[in-house]
Amino acid sequence: MAVVEKKIQMVDLVTQYEKIQGEIDAAVLGVVRSAAYINGPEVKAFKSELEAYLGVKHVIPCANGTDALQIAMMALGLKPGDEVITADFTYVATAEVIALLGLTPVLVDVYPDTFDINVEELEKAIGPKTKAIVPVHLFGQCADMERILAVAKKHGLFVIEDTAQAIGSNYTFSNGTVAKAGTMGDIGCTSFFPSKNLGCYGDGGAMYTNSDDLAAKMQMIANHGQSVQYYHDSIGVNSRLDSIQAAILRIKLRHLDSYAAERNNAASYYDKAFAGSSKLRTPKRVKHSDHVFHQYTLQLNGVDRQGLRDHLAGKGIPSMIYYPVPLHMQKAYLDPRYTEGMFPVTEQLCASVISLPMHSELEESTLEFITQSVLEYVNQ
Ligand SMILES: *Cc1c(COP(=O)(O)O)cnc(C)c1O
Repeated sequence: MAVVEKKIQMVDLVTQYEKIQGEIDAAVLGVVRSAAYINGPEVKAFKSELEAYLGVKHVIPCANGTDALQIAMMALGLKPGDEVITADFTYVATAEVIALLGLTPVLVDVYPDTFDINVEELEKAIGPKTKAIVPVHLFGQCADMERILAVAKKHGLFVIEDTAQAIGSNYTFSNGTVAKAGTMGDIGCTSFFPSKNLGCYGDGGAMYTNSDDLAAKMQMIANHGQSVQYYHDSIGVNSRLDSIQAAILRIKLRHLDSYAAERNNAASYYDKAFAGSSKLRTPKRVKHSDHVFHQYTLQLNGVDRQGLRDHLAGKGIPSMIYYPVPLHMQKAYLDPRYTEGMFPVTEQLCASVISLPMHSELEESTLEFITQSVLEYVNQ
C-alpha cells in the first residue's frame, strides 16, 4: 500500500494557503495598515473582478451564503404565505431562510444519479401560491437549468440559484450558449465559507444578478435598507463582506480554475479506481454542466456504511455524510404535508451516500491510499 505521511483531511486549507502565503500575507497586512476594514477598496475590486470572471452585470458581496439567500428572497418581494420550491436533498440553509421569512418551503425529490432537483416533480409541485424556485447546484454540478428556466417562464416564477457549492461551474445550453453557475436565474447566491471552492478565511457570501433593479434592491437591503446614509426606504439587514476577506478572495479567485482542475484530477482518479466495483456508484457527469467537485460523493450498494467509515477512520482517512437526513424529516421542518416515504430518492440517498476527501491538494499517493482502503473494505 502507498505510504502517506501527511494527515489526510476532507479539505486541506493549510497546504493551499502555504502555496500562496506571500501574496495572502501581504494583502491581509495591506488591509490592516489601511484601516479600510469595511467597504474598502478591496471589496470594490473583488466585486468587479468577480463580475468579470462570472460574466454577470452585478455582484453584491454580503456576510455569508445564508444571508445571500435571505436578501435575494427579500429583494424579490416575496410575502408570507408565498410558496418557494426547493430540493429535499440539500444543506438546510436553503429551506431555512424560506421558513424564516414566513414563506412556505415546498420540497421536491431529486434525481438519483445527479442529486439535483427533479424537474417533472418540480412542475407538479407548482400551485397558485408558488412564487419562486430555488435549484441547488449540489456538490458542484449545475442542476438542469434549461428545463428549470423553461418551467419558471411558463408559470411566471422567479429563479434563485443556490450556487454555494458550484462557483465557477459552466453550464452549456442546447444552443451552445455557455453561462456560469448562478448567472442564469434572476439571482444567484453563493458562499465563501472556508471549505467552499472559493473560500475566504472566515465568513462571506454574495448575490449575482443581471438586473439593475434587483441589484439596487439587494444592495440596499444588505445595508439596513438605506439608499442614502440615514435614510431607510425598506427594512433591511446588516450583511457585509469585510475587506480582509475580500483581499483574500481576490487572490484566490485567480487560482479558482486551477483549483477546479485539481479537484477534477482527484475525481478522475477516484472514478477509475472504483469503476469496476458493483458496490460503488460514482458521481454521474452530465453534458450540460462542468463539475467543480465541491464534494466527491459515492452511493454505496450493499455496503455497511458505518463499517466503511470506521475502517477508513482507523487508517486516518476522514469521510462525511452529506446529508444524513432529508429536509422533510428534520425536526425543525416536520410538516403534516410530508411523511416518510414521500421522497424516496432523497431518503435512499441519505442512507447510502458517502463523501471522500476532496480538495485541491490531494496527491496521487494519498488518492492511491484512500481508494485502496475503500476497496479493501468493500471487496472483503
Ligand atoms: C454552504 C451552503 C450555504 C450557506 O452558506 P453559508 O456561507 O455557510 O451561510 C447555502 N446553501 C448551500 C447548498 C451550501 O452548501
